[in-house]
Amino acid sequence: MQCPKCPNSPLVATQAQAIEVDCCKACGGIWFDHHELIPLLHESLPELTTLRGKSAPRGVNQKHGQCPRDNTGLLRVSSALGRSVILDTCPECRGIWLDGGEFDTLLKSVAQ
Ligand SMILES: [Zn+2]
Ligand SMILES: [Zn+2]
Repeated sequence: MQCPKCPNSPLVATQAQAIEVDCCKACGGIWFDHHELIPLLHESLPELTTLRGKSAPRGVNQKHGQCPRDNTGLLRVSSALGRSVILDTCPECRGIWLDGGEFDTLLKSVAQ
């Protein structure tokens, strides 16, 4: 799959707990299938630090991406978990894209 935000950057499958997520090494973003994100956030186990990665380069967050699975334009919605985080979600497959650093912010809001 291709990163929704970076041209020519493939997503790399990364194991986190029992699930596999897809990360972009260039911008630090992470793609979750719709059933993957919520259980992961509630695990809050040390292994999750592997996903915490770097912050996205400037401007990436504002970019409109396309779903790596079906190329549908992603919608920007504020997360119910952390209002400071704007998620990109696919209206078609309900997958969720987190820009670099956003996973970290979400983890913190869940922990509070
Ligand atoms: Zn990227
Ligand atoms: Zn999709």
